[in-house]
Amino acid sequence: MTPLMLYDTYTRSLREFIPLHGSDVGIYTCGPTVYDYAHIGNLRTYLFEDLLVRALKMNGYRVRRVMNITDVGHLTSDSDTGEDKMEKGALRTGRSAWDIASFYTEAFRGDMRRLNILEPDVWTRATEHIPEQIDMIRCIEEKGFTYRTSDGIYFDTSRLPDYGYLARLDVEGLQAGTRVDVGEKRFPTDFALWKFSPPGQKRQMEWDSPWGVGFPGWHIECSAMSEKYLGPFFDIHCGGEDHIPVHHTNEIAQTEACYGTRLANFWMHGYFLQLGDAKMSKSSGEFLRVQTLIDQGYDPLAYRFFCLSAHYRAKLNFTWEGMDGAVTALSRLRSAAYELGEPGEVDPGFVDRFTGQVNDDLNLPRAVALVWELLRSDLPAPTRKATLLYFDQILGLDLAGWKPEEVSVPAEILALVDERQKARKEKRFADADAIRAQVTAAGFEIEDTPQGPRVKPKK
Ligand code: AMP
Ligand code: ZN
Repeated sequence: MTPLMLYDTYTRSLREFIPLHGSDVGIYTCGPTVYDYAHIGNLRTYLFEDLLVRALKMNGYRVRRVMNITDVGHLTSDSDTGEDKMEKGALRTGRSAWDIASFYTEAFRGDMRRLNILEPDVWTRATEHIPEQIDMIRCIEEKGFTYRTSDGIYFDTSRLPDYGYLARLDVEGLQAGTRVDVGEKRFPTDFALWKFSPPGQKRQMEWDSPWGVGFPGWHIECSAMSEKYLGPFFDIHCGGEDHIPVHHTNEIAQTEACYGTRLANFWMHGYFLQLGDAKMSKSSGEFLRVQTLIDQGYDPLAYRFFCLSAHYRAKLNFTWEGMDGAVTALSRLRSAAYELGEPGEVDPGFVDRFTGQVNDDLNLPRAVALVWELLRSDLPAPTRKATLLYFDQILGLDLAGWKPEEVSVPAEILALVDERQKARKEKRFADADAIRAQVTAAGFEIEDTPQGPRVKPKK
């Protein structure tokens, strides 16, 4: 079998993936900040991670995937200023920060299911792991990497010689050229590990700590929880490309300070979904959700198929024309799969070639091209069907379960259709047209096919 090659952002290279522990693979995927719904851009990143998990499984590995839920500590600005997104979301909706966290967590899980994203093996909430985060901050403090300001405990990035390596940050340039007000921080790249509750103010989410009442910084949750569930050095860590310069850079710094590892053997990042030239973000621009697509009449799996058309390391521009194209292609694929009937044995040649594309850093656009080639091939139908279902382990389009919709058409409409057929045979075309108009007025449409007329409810 072709070896699995994955692009590692840390080394900026394609590397052969070999698990650290036999055939067990540990993956940590940074999860949502649950102060609002996820948009389809966020979900593109989770779809990429789903492909990765499915590819690892296809290669015979046992995967343990951990996903966190950020329900505290993510501030509106990455430079540790601004408000906590959760508390701000609470103000916006008039509900408690705890309520909105559980509401948007459930909404997010619903979106994942609608896109056929496999459920992570472990979900971890930041607010349920405060002692672990405090322990890790203490560890970083004992190693001498922290300092205190009036508003919190900060990580001193100047103490780590290779700070910023993941993002190839020019730390010296940043320090020399800085004109931004860094407040009491010593260096612009320093970041909060623990923030104090503002004096005289009671936050909805706050905890006691050795340093004072407050809440953890955003980055520490991922270092602490990944260590708890996967150990201090595990196989793959993923997220969107925006995490490279700050969030993942800081996760690495914390883990390096405490455990001396760079956290994960592979670092993988999904590129952004864009709307025209604008990036799609929760705080600006048009906010498209899975529910928005459904409201516009789209099957969520058409969005999944749309994302398969681009490599995960290429930006993808969202357009409604693109979605329409995905709808057409997906329905062609579904009908073709259905008409192939019962599966037989897979075709080893196609399976090899498909695996080759998937193992080439998840080259799904090429893998999808093979799907069409398979359908056009002259292999027996049961072979094509079995091979297609094998491919669907990765594609996740639920091809085995799909059936054409059984539409129920009332008897009087069927009678009209028969009458129209009769009129056509007898060349009474004006009558036939009038009957068709009656059928249309009742909300149905007639399609004349070589097998005779087909009637279905109008869209
Ligand atoms: P957040 O809920 O803001 O923490 O983001 C959740 C995930 O979505 C992170 O992995 C981000 O990197 C990713 N993300 C945010 N915006 C986009 C986008 N427009 N396209 C793809 N991924 C995104
Ligand atoms: Zn994270």
